[in-house]
Amino acid sequence: MRVHILGSGGREHAIGWAFSQQGYEVHFYPGNAGTKRDGTNHPYEGEKTIKGISDEDVIIPGSEEYLVEGVANWKSNVFGPIKEVARLEGSKVFAKRFMKKYGIRTARFEVAETPEELKEKIKKFSPPYVIKADGLARGKGVLILDSEEEAIEKGSKLITGELIKGVKGPVVIDEYLEGEELSAMAIVNGRDFVILPFVRDYKRLLDNDRGPNTGGMGSWGPVSVSQETVSKIEELFDKTLWGVEKEGYTYRGFLYLGLMLHDGDPYILEYNVRLGDPETEVIVVLNPEAFVNAVLEGYRGGRMEAIRPNGFAVDVVLASKGYPDNPEKGKEITLPEDGLIFFAGVAEKDGKLVTAGGRVLHCMGSGATREEARKKAYELAERVQFEGKMYRRDIAS
Ligand code: ATP
Repeated sequence: MRVHILGSGGREHAIGWAFSQQGYEVHFYPGNAGTKRDGTNHPYEGEKTIKGISDEDVIIPGSEEYLVEGVANWKSNVFGPIKEVARLEGSKVFAKRFMKKYGIRTARFEVAETPEELKEKIKKFSPPYVIKADGLARGKGVLILDSEEEAIEKGSKLITGELIKGVKGPVVIDEYLEGEELSAMAIVNGRDFVILPFVRDYKRLLDNDRGPNTGGMGSWGPVSVSQETVSKIEELFDKTLWGVEKEGYTYRGFLYLGLMLHDGDPYILEYNVRLGDPETEVIVVLNPEAFVNAVLEGYRGGRMEAIRPNGFAVDVVLASKGYPDNPEKGKEITLPEDGLIFFAGVAEKDGKLVTAGGRVLHCMGSGATREEARKKAYELAERVQFEGKMYRRDIAS
């Protein structure tokens, strides 16, 4: 059996690395300059590519676009939900209505289809106002605003498509929940699931959570979560998978819950139908063998074992100057001989590695303690060179 991974970021490199470590032949579509070291890169041409892959093999989509597009509808050997179910991530309106229907804890909400409706329905809420675009918006589709006037103005523009290029349509008005954020990921087969080690990620660009939001500047795990909270999270997965079944579908693949711990209870803020990036990088390093086994058992419908972390792992992201708005590209990269690095925005030019995106490399460290893992990740981060290299100094500290 061969493994085919869809995507081109650090998460896909990390998944592929884990499989290649376990002796599997790995193929990436399209992959990047780093994935080539752990397998073979191919162009991705949608349905044609997917249908050309042998039924004996497994296809693992890294990011949601593939699932929302319907890769799992084209072929049955895809480890991910079909597009009807991928709407849990692809449409916030669908996800919120689903949670309401199945009694799954989430913030109280209303849906507004027009600016007039928004103006009317926002009266049912108090500041700060949370307004969310319905469709995929690459992390930019959520507005949190104190003034009602501004919320109506910006929310209206979100509806009419004037706020974010390519994003228009209904919005969700969510009740603001105070609390601590946490994410939980699981490998799922039908009603059966296994929760992956908890990982903390760092969304802001700068130290001490300052600066703009990014795709994630680093992560570490395992984070300890109380048994009581874990049980409540299990209940959320349970109810979700029960709901999916009631709708007439079967969930197979990864499922990610974006949570807010509010008054001692986890509330679902969002569903993702794939793993997080940079959380995946840490999870695979914690125990590549157990990760691969759990994915394959989930895929085959076998017994999935919990993933026991071997110590700690830390991911320090190296980003390009100008990230996230306008990252520099084309800067030559010099890598150290040793150390585990997952590639993201890296290309090859005239036989040399060059930067090709905002997040460039994930420098990994592991060890018996968090401090040891952290030290190794930072030593590695310091030894990589490219012009404009940026990274946070407070990951896992
Ligand atoms: P992501 O970039 O994580 O995919 P997204 O655009 O899909 O995010 P959400 O995860 O729903 O959107 O919201 C983004 C962030 O906004 C959350 O991580 C949280 O910090 C904040 N947020 C969302 N909903 C609420 C809420 N009801 N109360 C308080 N904060 C919220």
